[in-house]
Amino acid sequence: MAYVITQPCIGTNDESCVEVCPVDCIHSDRDSEMCFIDSEGCIDCGACVDACPVSAIYPEWAVPPQWRPFIEINARFYTG
Ligand code: SF4
Ligand code: SF4
Repeated sequence: MAYVITQPCIGTNDESCVEVCPVDCIHSDRDSEMCFIDSEGCIDCGACVDACPVSAIYPEWAVPPQWRPFIEINARFYTG
């Protein structure tokens, strides 16, 4: 299990979550409009959830139905 970043991050992408993640598993790049969580590194601490100003982050099991595709979108950032 891991946490997942979803739609509301797009256009916000302020990286508040990056600053609080204790294992540095949240990343973005120049071509992306959002950040992505590396499920391999995430320790499910939940710190990023409280830091996000737009409530974009959910544990995988709780991702709202319309944003389920973001589970794959986060994973693809790391697997290519
Ligand atoms: S739940 Fe914790 S470990 Fe996982 S991405 Fe968020 S801050 Fe990082
Ligand atoms: S804190 Fe929220 S809006 Fe900001 S980069 Fe992280 S997920 Fe995106």
